Amino acid sequence: MSKVAYINDKAYPIHEGETMLSFLRRHNGKKSVPTLCDAANLEPFGSCRVCSVDVALQKEGKTKAMASCHSPMQEGMYLYPDSPNIQKLRKNIIELVLTDHPLDCLTCEVNGNCELQDVAASVGIRDVRYPEGENHLHREKDLSHPYMTSDLSKCINCYRCVRACDEVQGEFVLNMAGRGFDSHIIKGHDQSFKESDCVSCGACAQACPTSAISDVFESKSVAKAEKTRTVCTYCGVGCNLEVSTRNGEILSIQAPYDAAANGGHTCLKGRYAFKFYNHPDRLRTPLIKRNGKFEEATWDEAYDFITDKFKQLIADHGPDSIAGISSARTPNEENYLMQKFMRAVVGTNNIDCCARVCHSPTALGMQRAFGTGAATNSIDDLNYTDCIIVIGANPTDAHPVTGAKIKQKLMKGTMGIVIDPRKIELAKYAKYHLQLRPGTNVALLNMMLYYIITEDVMDKDFVAKRTEGFEEFKQEILKLDMDELASITGVDKELVKEASLAYAKANAAMEFHGLGVTEHSQGTFTVQLIADLAMITGNIGKKGSGMNPLRGQNNVQGAADMGAQPHQGAGYLDVTNPEINARYNTFYNAKVPSHIGYKIPEMFNAAINGDLKALWLIGEDVVQTDPNTQKVMKAMDSLELLVVQEIFMTETAKHATVILPGASFLEKSGTFTNGERRVQRVKKVVEPLEGTKSDGEIIVDLMNRMGYPQPPYTPDGMLDEISQIVPFFEGITWDNLGDNGLQWPVKKGGVDTPMLHIDEFKRGLGKFTFQNFKESVEVETHGKDYPYIITTNRELEHYNCGTMTRRTGNVDILTEDVLLINPKDAADNLIEDGRMVCVESPRGKVDIKAFITDEVKPGVMSSTFHFPEIMLNNITSDVHDSEAMCPEYKVVMCRVRKSKGKFKQLV
Ligand code: SF4
Repeated sequence: MSKVAYINDKAYPIHEGETMLSFLRRHNGKKSVPTLCDAANLEPFGSCRVCSVDVALQKEGKTKAMASCHSPMQEGMYLYPDSPNIQKLRKNIIELVLTDHPLDCLTCEVNGNCELQDVAASVGIRDVRYPEGENHLHREKDLSHPYMTSDLSKCINCYRCVRACDEVQGEFVLNMAGRGFDSHIIKGHDQSFKESDCVSCGACAQACPTSAISDVFESKSVAKAEKTRTVCTYCGVGCNLEVSTRNGEILSIQAPYDAAANGGHTCLKGRYAFKFYNHPDRLRTPLIKRNGKFEEATWDEAYDFITDKFKQLIADHGPDSIAGISSARTPNEENYLMQKFMRAVVGTNNIDCCARVCHSPTALGMQRAFGTGAATNSIDDLNYTDCIIVIGANPTDAHPVTGAKIKQKLMKGTMGIVIDPRKIELAKYAKYHLQLRPGTNVALLNMMLYYIITEDVMDKDFVAKRTEGFEEFKQEILKLDMDELASITGVDKELVKEASLAYAKANAAMEFHGLGVTEHSQGTFTVQLIADLAMITGNIGKKGSGMNPLRGQNNVQGAADMGAQPHQGAGYLDVTNPEINARYNTFYNAKVPSHIGYKIPEMFNAAINGDLKALWLIGEDVVQTDPNTQKVMKAMDSLELLVVQEIFMTETAKHATVILPGASFLEKSGTFTNGERRVQRVKKVVEPLEGTKSDGEIIVDLMNRMGYPQPPYTPDGMLDEISQIVPFFEGITWDNLGDNGLQWPVKKGGVDTPMLHIDEFKRGLGKFTFQNFKESVEVETHGKDYPYIITTNRELEHYNCGTMTRRTGNVDILTEDVLLINPKDAADNLIEDGRMVCVESPRGKVDIKAFITDEVKPGVMSSTFHFPEIMLNNITSDVHDSEAMCPEYKVVMCRVRKSKGKFKQLV
């Protein structure tokens, strides 16, 4: 028999550990108890007391008013939420709040959508009996920031903004100053939003119950506009967004509190960087280059131009003279169609996507070790972990919502280990920061594995029952010389030992890694060693553990799942396997090739060699973002046909023969798969801009014109086709994805999988593999003449090439790429902070502004490639990971000097 308590003497079941407020709202409805300081994603606070209810421990017993938001339920309690005593108390509280609040509701931005106004009305306040206070009159508005605004005359001191900044984002920018009636919110050291360390996540604005803190889009004032729930396009966290529209225009974005991926939170990209969608720079008509100039064309002309050329090339040079690069920013359904076009229509496996230049080593390394190349656990497992190890990733910048969650855990005492050449934000909160030299991950991980074995802290039971290859692996590890590896990595061996033991001894340790692992010549081997580390400590198949790659672009997981890669078709099925080939042939009703196609770097080489004649590229600015820009441009210019499907005139589009204007994620429907394998629905928020088409529609149009009968694009229809060929999508339908999606593999009936490899690995036993450290070719070849290492990174405000964010207010917050340089290196080269410097590598040179910081060690520099004005990839190297061909962006040998000039190509 379940436990019960009483509301107005009527019995209701109680849930273990719930508060009075949740009990009352569960049974009487969300609006049954008014609140002010309470918010869905914040800890109970109990300061305003508006949620007070009368409580008796027995029927007709003595009642006591208690704040329901933080008071736990007990069996047999009697709650009277609307007693005369409580009604009077609430009215008094709200009256007092209103005495120092401007009573100008009619002209207030949030009139009609103000929580204070609602609560005042619900407790029956029409007039305030007390004289109006004056403190609020002295509060100035803050309009300094591109997104955030404040008018603290409207503040009711509920602390929701302060708590959101602390509890959700972990930034501690907002605080309360003064006493009594003079209590007021301050930002930083009583600064403006712009001057403070605010990261513009908007958590405070969403939390504020009045318009004291808001945003320039007045998000709360449009609460009654039409709403569409969709998924952010900027990173692999996959935050759900609630987009408000009116008359086909986007007004603002908020974060749904019930979203599994982000629980009411976003970063500034997801919440605020949406104004690109109808920017004047959007491409609005197909363009064909004739005599070196782009000319406007109709869709029919563009389609005819492309299909005529494709057919001619297939006839003259065979299908492998054509290649496609699909987009990790477009939905699964469009990626699926693109690879289907290449395989079933053209007849080539020359299809790849940007996973090649970010997490291809993760997929390959994890497939080798476990059989599946995707995150083993869910982000929610952070709530169950005792140790977090972050390797080569900077989540607070690149995956901000997950980064904020990790930061919260570390601040609250969870053991943290950061392995990164830069002093990233999380390194400040982690117990161990192993600040290794770029390119030495393999050496450092081998040190960790050595200490775990020699100190006898491994999980012998897990290794014996769940893995293979351990004895050979162990023998190799034991041959290693720790002093030598310490010297290679630049990290004290005792520190490595301590961190290794901390990781191994944790009950459950959770691993996260990013491009600082994969973008190396030993990227795949590093991933395999991380898998070794997880297996040797038994950190697989249990809550709060696992190996969790932080996928970069929003749908890079999905693009690979859908087969946008040259060796595996949809569902990671091996294209060279005759049985699989027969299955694809039957399913697509076409002859699909069984030899592996070109990976992206091989496409560039083939274009330069003349073997590749045509490239169709969707939403991928390879000229700006792929390494060794000059080589990429040469490849683009060597093609007979370059089709670029884009929303803006990118650096790559400038080299195109034909440009097809695509629709943005806000203008189409489909699904994205986030970094924890969560397949979520992307829903059309506004109609595509006039003149543009969704990528799915364009691909289907071209399929039909090439003679392949493909039905019109619909997201549910495509998902249905995908579920028939991709084994782990078997149980997914458009409808059963619901609001929070499903984590693949999904069985028939919609049963999903938050955690992989619980009882056995996909490949049966997990495979240990030893990998020895090998110095990067870049260091060995050029280290003598180019003494510094540049390692590339990302900043919070922009994603990779920043085509979209540069057309939003984000560009007013972060205006340019800079070079992070240690004070010693700056002094050695007579470089002052903020001065232009020339950075030269064996590939070329760029001019960039110096930013002097101890975030990097002497000898190491760091920069981003968000801005085409700098084009940092002119200096990066196209040396690749030996296995997956992911470029080594993280180890670029260079020299540096003062300069005023611009980029010059070396001859
Ligand atoms: Fe969330 Fe990433 Fe979008 Fe930021 S960029 S809102 S963290 S999905």
